[in-house]
Amino acid sequence: MKIIEREAKSIYTRTKLPGIEYTINQYVGCGHRCAYCYARYMSRWKDYGQWGTWIEVKTNAPELAKEKIGGEVSMSSVSDPYQPLEKERKLTRRVLENMDKNTNLSILTKSDLVLRDIDILKKFKNLSVGLTVNCFPEKVRKILEPHAPKSERRIKALKKLNKEGINTFCFISPVIPKLTEVRKVLKKTKGIVDYYLVEVLNTRLGGENFREILKNKFPESYEYLKDRKKMEKFVELLKDYLETAKIPIAAFVGHWRENYYKE
Ligand code: SF4
Repeated sequence: MKIIEREAKSIYTRTKLPGIEYTINQYVGCGHRCAYCYARYMSRWKDYGQWGTWIEVKTNAPELAKEKIGGEVSMSSVSDPYQPLEKERKLTRRVLENMDKNTNLSILTKSDLVLRDIDILKKFKNLSVGLTVNCFPEKVRKILEPHAPKSERRIKALKKLNKEGINTFCFISPVIPKLTEVRKVLKKTKGIVDYYLVEVLNTRLGGENFREILKNKFPESYEYLKDRKKMEKFVELLKDYLETAKIPIAAFVGHWRENYYKE
């Protein structure tokens, strides 16, 4: 993995993402190397090579994070704040230490490394911490999320955060027919999260390589994604199921309609 260190001009970026006003990315690039990573478009603007082979470290991020920000801030959109590199760099930790504790902040990660920073997280007055949980079977996770912790560890992290009194959410993503075990996620996270976000796979952002992986390794799922009617039915059933499960769902995200695969 190539590590590029640079100084950034600012760290809070205005966004049009629904429900948030700013994103904060102290890293660009991610060592979790998820096959479907939506942030791969960043490679177009960064001349460092293929997505998943480099990480940009914004060395002055802790200093820049001191700026007071009004509005909802999301950490992070083009990296995971608790990716493996964070263990040694402690950049996210230093950013959090310097941030105004009144910031309306939501943190999303796939790693239980977030537990290391509970002492700082508890100082924030308007914070929610989310873990992505999809309960992919192990052989699937090894292909789609090769360097991210297993779902079990993510669930344990949610449990601990909840026990510590931190507002938690579970991001069920990406929902892929025949691969994502939504029922299992709900069963295992019952009572330990404050709300859920559910997101059906965005095939366009997943990219061409991911399409090939699905086609070759998970043809049953691929069949769904290239058949609009099948996908419509799948999403309809999923929504029905979530409704009957009576869980607090803050958002159901799905751009699959425009982006289903065409051959
Ligand atoms: S954890 Fe998130 S940012 Fe990192 S590779 Fe996976 S999808 Fe991309």
